[in-house]
Amino acid sequence: MNRWMDGTRALFFDLDGCIYFGRKLAERANDLLELLRDQGYRIGFITNNSRENATEIRDRLAEMGHRLEGELIVSATEAVAEYLRDVYGRVAVKAAGSASLSGALAAAGHRVLDWARPDSADVIVIGRDTEFDYRRLEQIVNEIARGARVIGTNPDYSHPGEGRRLVPETGSLLAAVESIAGGPIASVGKPHAWLYELAMRKYGVVPSECVMVGDNLATDIAGAERSGMKTVWVRHSFLPAPDGEARAVVPTVTVGALSELYELLLRGSYMA
Ligand SMILES: [Mg+2]
Repeated sequence: MNRWMDGTRALFFDLDGCIYFGRKLAERANDLLELLRDQGYRIGFITNNSRENATEIRDRLAEMGHRLEGELIVSATEAVAEYLRDVYGRVAVKAAGSASLSGALAAAGHRVLDWARPDSADVIVIGRDTEFDYRRLEQIVNEIARGARVIGTNPDYSHPGEGRRLVPETGSLLAAVESIAGGPIASVGKPHAWLYELAMRKYGVVPSECVMVGDNLATDIAGAERSGMKTVWVRHSFLPAPDGEARAVVPTVTVGALSELYELLLRGSYMA
């Protein structure tokens, strides 16, 4: 019999649409995380959130009623800055996104240029820019035409927010740029290996010791499966069935809600 949790040391959770919806914790999220702590598992969070840094996410969780115990949060906001430094060194960047995204880029040693200035950037970073408009699109595609590299924080098209409202994500903005610039734009967020590798390195664990829990089959689960982790897909019945390549992804376990995973682990009946 295959006890899928055997050998597990760390569980990594997606946040938006998994641990919380907007500013509301998912049902049983508190109980689940407490149970896992009691059972001695390490817990971490791997999020494609590109607007908030780890401190802001920690504060948001505390406001919702979940206080972390120093556990790791790997966010696309900060990871994109580290990725650029690892791959290109310190670069001149123009960023479409939140003040926290620009702050993380500057903190990693990059030179963050103002869009209003004529200086050319080495790299354009695109995050979930809630002020994105025609003018910004025009600036981005012309920087690319001039030779700037471009990278997205995360490829998600949307995530479920509070009251099941759809929150448009970075991927939908990337699609607008791609339609003009030609060819796909790479992102550092899930399903790319970078965020998973960062999290595993920080906890000193290998893929076979990890379980990734998330609601997005094409990002959370596909990337974790590719990296060798076990996976728990929280499948929301209110969202359309996955299409395209995501249909080929086979999660280790599928649950209808986070509370269902809590029940499985509480009963110790976690046969795949
Ligand atoms: Mg999610």
